[in-house]
Amino acid sequence: MTGFNTQAVHAGQHKDPHTGAVVPPIYQTSTFIQDGINVLRSGHEYSRGSNPTRDGFQEQLTALEGGAAGFAFASGIAAEDALLRAVLEPGDHIILGADGYGGTNRLISKLHSKWGITSSAVDITNLDSVRAAVQPNTALLWVETPSNPLLGIADLSGWATIARENGALLVVDNTFATPYLQRPLDFGAHAVVHSTTKYIGGHSDVLGGAVILADHHFRGQSLAEAVGYQQFAGGAVAGPQDSYLAARGLKTLGLRMERHCASAQALAHWLDARPEVTRVYYPGLTSHPGHELAARQQRGFGGIVSVALKDEAAARAFAQSMEYFQLSVSLGGVESLVCYPREMTHASLIGTELEIPANLVRLSVGIEEVEDLIADLERGLAAARATVPATTRDTASARTVREKTLENA
Ligand SMILES: *Cc1c(COP(=O)(O)O)cnc(C)c1O
Repeated sequence: MTGFNTQAVHAGQHKDPHTGAVVPPIYQTSTFIQDGINVLRSGHEYSRGSNPTRDGFQEQLTALEGGAAGFAFASGIAAEDALLRAVLEPGDHIILGADGYGGTNRLISKLHSKWGITSSAVDITNLDSVRAAVQPNTALLWVETPSNPLLGIADLSGWATIARENGALLVVDNTFATPYLQRPLDFGAHAVVHSTTKYIGGHSDVLGGAVILADHHFRGQSLAEAVGYQQFAGGAVAGPQDSYLAARGLKTLGLRMERHCASAQALAHWLDARPEVTRVYYPGLTSHPGHELAARQQRGFGGIVSVALKDEAAARAFAQSMEYFQLSVSLGGVESLVCYPREMTHASLIGTELEIPANLVRLSVGIEEVEDLIADLERGLAAARATVPATTRDTASARTVREKTLENA
């Protein structure tokens, strides 16, 4: 089989026969001229149904995930929404990994709940708890590994077995690992979802999402047919310009992931030796409970490192005092980012059993020089050391931020 980086560069990149352009043009068009009524020149009719730039990206990502078909959407959440709408029916139950992207939980609990969809949250690392959560109406299992933001590792073969035994689908959010590090369909998953906004785009300049499907039938229909129809009829498609940016990013994914992994590993070791840090969450550390499983399942341990500091004040100071680790949501770009998940990405979970601890900070390690990143972390830890336990005033201002972000996140 052709190697990953070769496929990344060539799959789906159909050259322009007229000019010989090495990079396929961006087909920035809404519609296509017909040579007679319903006589389509190259199979394309209208860009919601298909567009050559989007098709090329879909083909490229599908090849890398080893799928039967793939579909690109306007965002990761739009991709998730399309997949759920395509396969679920009112009254269905979902088993959802407890440690996962906050927006996925919100999509299901706030929007899909209106159509009678229910869900149970389970510990992704404990297959017994997954099995115990199965109900007669369980139609779908949804897991993220490594998970966000606690970097838990789920046993994909084990999850796939439970799904298969119960006639349910297994969906894996592969945003953190990317197809370079892990291919969930090879472990028996039925669908992979991505926020291509993150590592696949890779440069923090485009929003996008994708669903990649195994060759599998569910409720009498092929998954590819169901999701393809949902993409066309629901319409949350990726536009030509966004598809082009995602495809361009995907060509260098392998190179970038090697660097993200090496730098994250170095920073995780460095942080682990620091007295200000009470715990480092990184599957590449041998002390991580999922280390051996991750080593079997993944080609590398990824670019995300989470750290616990001594308390909330230290975590806030650390997150807000660095130069290269810029404070923002999102991850997976060439630039390093730092996030305070409890009140940023995962604010919608505050007050629920899934809320993120107040002393946790998530780092997305970019491709900058590792020495510069270490110097930056040193600045952050100095700021964390200088904090005193939260005063009444800190707590009040923290509450204001929390109320604001709860609405926006
Ligand atoms: C960002 C993210 C999403 C949502 O994707 P958007 O492109 O922001 O809509 C879903 N899952 C994971 C793991 C993410 O990091």
